[in-house]
Amino acid sequence: MIDKVVIANRGEIALRILRACRELGIKTVAVHSDADHDLMHVQFADETVCIGPAPSTDSYLQIPAIISAAEVTDATAIHPGYGFLSENADFAERVEQSGFTFIGPKADTIRMMGDKITAIESMKQAGVPTVPGSDGALGDDKEKILETAARIGYPVIIKAAGGGGGRGMRVVHTEATLLNSISLTKTEAGTAFGNPTVYMEKYLENPRHVEFQVISDNHGNAIHLCERDCSMQRRHQKVVEEAPAPGITEELRTKIGERCAEACRQIGYRGAGTFEFLYENGEFYFIEMNTRVQVEHPVTEMITGVDIVKEQLLIASGEKLSYKQEDIKINGHAIECRINAEDSKTFFPSPGRITQLHFPGGAGVRVDSHIYNGYMVPPHYDSMIGKLITHGNSRDTALRRMKIALSEMVVDGIKTNIPLQQEIMDDGAFAAGGANIHYLEKKLGI
Ligand code: ADP
Repeated sequence: MIDKVVIANRGEIALRILRACRELGIKTVAVHSDADHDLMHVQFADETVCIGPAPSTDSYLQIPAIISAAEVTDATAIHPGYGFLSENADFAERVEQSGFTFIGPKADTIRMMGDKITAIESMKQAGVPTVPGSDGALGDDKEKILETAARIGYPVIIKAAGGGGGRGMRVVHTEATLLNSISLTKTEAGTAFGNPTVYMEKYLENPRHVEFQVISDNHGNAIHLCERDCSMQRRHQKVVEEAPAPGITEELRTKIGERCAEACRQIGYRGAGTFEFLYENGEFYFIEMNTRVQVEHPVTEMITGVDIVKEQLLIASGEKLSYKQEDIKINGHAIECRINAEDSKTFFPSPGRITQLHFPGGAGVRVDSHIYNGYMVPPHYDSMIGKLITHGNSRDTALRRMKIALSEMVVDGIKTNIPLQQEIMDDGAFAAGGANIHYLEKKLGI
């Protein structure tokens, strides 16, 4: 069993990991930057190591500093959380080479999923439905490229194999601009990701973002924990998530969920992961796999009762999954609102000191947050300061509880996006369920 974990992250997810470790009797080491001495999990951790100055490139992204922290504290494992080094295959490899357990999949799996072309190829082989496309990288043969686009049908999207964070993509509506768009995307991809390889997919015009959570152990067992709808997005950033996804039938859920679990068994996947799909006209199309815990994991926890972070720790300790597929039943509905320190209208970040704080409570309300009264939100990192999650036996109850929770929440001293979240919760299309990925930006007029 793992007995001491280095938490290589900050903020709410670091606290979430610390709590799961404590529950399992695992000791914790908080590694933090100069700007993060006051983080809540740093106060609670058994040991702390300052790994560098405020900018994350000098601290949270410093592989040698994190590995040394594990060495000096005699830790056994490293949990990367999300963001930062969580999907960095070289980090996972160096952690394992240094004799520590990486709490996540094998480095080779992360590498395979980090290249979108190999990721799609492996998913296809496992029977996961993918977007009609070029079946691999686009070569230099112009005639062939034009033929491929004609076969797929316009509009098409050119995507960088090494892309991420919503960058390295270009939509093409007509043959006239195809070749030029490809060469532009290649040049950009080469500069931005060090890999000019691009591929082509059918551009889906009004899809929803629906993703499946999976967990797999080291003993060949893999199950899915149903799906989440994360279509409320701004600039490809999720704003609200919910589970289950409105309108997905049990039959379709089982079909796609089983394919994802089977894909995990085929590739020898280890740990928690997410299969992201675009969902349009009743069909699922795989776009990518995230090989880590997601920000939105709590909505899945609320409807399934599975503690995903605890499962990650148990799997990394070599245990078998605590659940079988037939144990997973959907209980009600859950919604998550991301709470960001930013102006609700301009989205401009709003770091600073929290002068007054009140968290909501009551039945079916969960707050995953590291902030406290008097906490100084530093300007150096992501603006998310917490997540508000509500659960109820129906979507309507979860939504009502979210409206009440948002109205009770007080964060003074900085600006937050709570007014935007209230607007979304009061929106008719959100209330109806099933809005597509463009809905929020259209509503906001961007
Ligand atoms: P990244 O790794 O950069 O997040 P993804 O492949 O997950 O890239 O795509 C990011 C977003 O781009 C998707 O959520 C979707 O909004 C849009 N997108 C990607 N592929 C397609 C497609 N084939 N059709 C329509 N939209 C797409």
